[in-house]
Amino acid sequence: MTASEEETQAVARELAATLEPGAVLLLSGDLGAGKTTFARGLAEGLGIDPTDVSSPTFTLVHEYRGGRLTLYHADLYRLEKTATDDLGLEELGVRDGVLAIEWPDRLTHELPGAVLVRLEVINDGSRRITIGPPEVGPYSIR
Ligand code: ADP
Ligand code: MG
Repeated sequence: MTASEEETQAVARELAATLEPGAVLLLSGDLGAGKTTFARGLAEGLGIDPTDVSSPTFTLVHEYRGGRLTLYHADLYRLEKTATDDLGLEELGVRDGVLAIEWPDRLTHELPGAVLVRLEVINDGSRRITIGPPEVGPYSIR
């Protein structure tokens, strides 16, 4: 449970410290749940300036270098499910980076080894954050 944006970023910073090249994080949660906030914390934890990280609205995938690992930040919100097949997300992050995906429910097939970060709005300031393997579903590990 986090009580503020800053606390959510702190959770993400801690997670970032444990990440290895090729890590894939599925940031799931409603609009305003804190997915982009979490991505900023990841950036910070990897040594990237978090203020660079914005909602990747028009560019589907943003790439942030200069940290311990490159952060690839994708937002699939505006995508039709089938369009995600053409993005080549699987190839991103596998070498030197970490791939963080907002709205992973748009994915049509699972990304092997992905870790689910679930953000739930409890009230104005608090969020419940659950980090773990995805549940059985379109992006489950098989
Ligand atoms: P999303 O990318 O999921 O749509 P954002 O990260 O862009 O969400 O926005 C989350 C909003 O919720 C921000 O305005 C932030 O200040 C606010 N907020 C309030 N409490 C928290 C919290 N505990 N963690 C993250 N964001 C929070
Ligand atoms: Mg967002």
